[in-house]
Amino acid sequence: MNEAFRAARILTMNPDCPEILDGGILVREGRILALGAWREVAGDGVPRDLGAVTLVPGLINAHAHLELSHLAGRVPAGLGFAGWADALFAAMRESRVTEAALKRAVDEARASGTCHVADVVGREFDMVRRVLDSQGLDGFLFQEFSGRGREFKPKDLPGAWSPGVHSLYSTDQGLARSIKQWCESLALPFCLHLAEAPGENELFKSGSGEFADFLRARRILPRGFAAPGVSAVGFARELGLLDELTLAVHCVQIDEHDVQILAASGASVCLCPRSNRWIGVGEAPVAALHAAKVPLCLGTDSLASVPDLDLWQELRVVRTLLPASASLSDLLALATRNPARLLGIDADLGSLDVGKRAAWAVLPVDMK
Ligand SMILES: [Zn+2]
Repeated sequence: MNEAFRAARILTMNPDCPEILDGGILVREGRILALGAWREVAGDGVPRDLGAVTLVPGLINAHAHLELSHLAGRVPAGLGFAGWADALFAAMRESRVTEAALKRAVDEARASGTCHVADVVGREFDMVRRVLDSQGLDGFLFQEFSGRGREFKPKDLPGAWSPGVHSLYSTDQGLARSIKQWCESLALPFCLHLAEAPGENELFKSGSGEFADFLRARRILPRGFAAPGVSAVGFARELGLLDELTLAVHCVQIDEHDVQILAASGASVCLCPRSNRWIGVGEAPVAALHAAKVPLCLGTDSLASVPDLDLWQELRVVRTLLPASASLSDLLALATRNPARLLGIDADLGSLDVGKRAAWAVLPVDMK
């Protein structure tokens, strides 16, 4: 049975036909059969009038940690990175995630217009995959590796996934390189936290500082760590970790030179603006990244550093950080077209087009 959905306005994110007023989307079995003016598709399916709304492609959350969903409200804001990390470790020791907490988080994400999540998973791969499937949310899972010299052994895991590394301060550089090479050989996306914590650059440049002390005291630094003498972003480039299939998450502690490195590499940067504010690590130079044409994506991060998984809240913050010349389409690209390309799901998602999935969100009225 075909269904014909009518909406006052459709923003497709397809540059050839970006906006349709009094639009219609003809859908069969979850796929878009036709898209255009309402009068062109109205007669071909059971009419479903969505009213005076603006439809946009379903949102893609490019960075979450669903397995931390049970920690909602349990890790205070404003502690700074080291304080936040210690509070997180303590909370993680006290309890493990439950399926109920995961389901609640996934349902809330879906209800706010998210249709796909790129989720970083440490211990609970099977549970996260199961809950995503049962709650009907698409997911790409980054199985996270960190450690002091462990070898990378690929696993056989269900669904769309690839290995990622936690960060360059917690992961042996040989391990990071071999994971990236494995991803590259299979054309899979690769993800790492990069330049999030204040002190990360000092650590990599000189091997010293408060952050270095914090890591050494907790035995987090890889065995035999030696400062490469460059910034975090510079180190990632030296290791061959930055290219078009890399998602560098946070990128708060970066200067203009780092921005140029990122732009030249083709890597995407995932902004997590509310998480950065919650933890107190500062603000990514969003305008400079945008000006350098670095592909930007958007993630909520986990419920240990944001109050909800609502990407519209992230978009509202990013809107204030982009230059005034940035369009609504530029803004929406962070949660639609850009992550869809990086994750290799742009045949299905990222824009509203014939043949793609009928996955859309309603633009909040204050975003018009
Ligand atoms: Zn993260």
